[in-house]
Amino acid sequence: MRYATHVSDLVGHTPLVKLNTVTAGLSATILAKVEYLNPGGSVKDRIALKMIEAAEASGELKPGGTIVEPTSGNTGVGLALVAQRKGYQCVFVCPDKVSKDKRDVLAAYGARVVVTPTAVAPEDPNSYYSVSDRLLREIPGAWKPNQYANPNGPASHYESTGPEIWADTDGRVTHFVAGVGTGGTITGTGRYLHDASAARADEDGGRVRVVGVDPAGSVYSGGDGRPYLVEGVGEDFWPAAYDPAVPDEIIAVTDADSFAMTRRLAKEEALLVGGSCGMAVTAALRLARRLEDEDPQAAAKAVIVVLLPDSGRGYMSKIFDDAWMRSYGFLDASQGVTAGDVLR
Ligand code: PMP
Repeated sequence: MRYATHVSDLVGHTPLVKLNTVTAGLSATILAKVEYLNPGGSVKDRIALKMIEAAEASGELKPGGTIVEPTSGNTGVGLALVAQRKGYQCVFVCPDKVSKDKRDVLAAYGARVVVTPTAVAPEDPNSYYSVSDRLLREIPGAWKPNQYANPNGPASHYESTGPEIWADTDGRVTHFVAGVGTGGTITGTGRYLHDASAARADEDGGRVRVVGVDPAGSVYSGGDGRPYLVEGVGEDFWPAAYDPAVPDEIIAVTDADSFAMTRRLAKEEALLVGGSCGMAVTAALRLARRLEDEDPQAAAKAVIVVLLPDSGRGYMSKIFDDAWMRSYGFLDASQGVTAGDVLR
């Protein structure tokens, strides 16, 4: 009989899938790493597992302890599913702007969700920050993973995501493209792929080029933190989990282009994925277009791996809702999606 002992044993080992339609006119091979096939439905299962196991090893998290983290989404699910197996409680703090659906998912896994008002100053005792700090002080055995600063986030990608991509491409990957939120994915995976390809640097393939992607307006591409709607990526500060020395380049993508591509991935590639996936694929296609223009022969040999962090299920009332898209001007009733040529 072949079975997993627990669902958390199924984290990682996600497949690469070739993109076939959105890549029309491009000769590079573009492979999507489909992270929604993790058991919690996102790439964040990887960091959750590693952060918890490292905290157990260091003694920061003890039997019967409680995990306290300000998170409203994917990281919470990952932490909750690992915590359940190991007998920890989870308390997640999220602002009231987070949809009820997302909070209900965390509660369904057995986590306690504390909702804080969005419209108060950070120093207010009821703010997101004040409440999570207070819970951390007051709950006995509380431990905060702090995904923005925890080095085990990038480490999990150095140990799993990077080696999986290297092995599945037989060491032929030439470019790695991923969105940047905490920066853990690009830092850990990119660092591994740089290291793994260093040995072939003088040969044909050269060093893997690591390309970070962020929403237009976010700090990574030189913005000031201006608001954007794509979720899970972009910041208004520089997290410690991000090493700016790793990406060779950052490409900024607008919400409109991100969401248009997200819809195309579902409709044309049968990949129902989230908005940061559409963002990353848009950047991968722009990169492929540039390679094509610069050196068609090299472009034909390029193997571009683009990481798709999560599923589209969590965005049905946003990206996949015509009224929501129209309310932001992302959809023209007569013409469908109005993002224009995403390769421009
Ligand atoms: N996309 C989504 C949907 C995410 O939740 C995250 C994690 N914040 C990312 C992309 C970016 O990953 P990272 O935090 O590793 O930079």
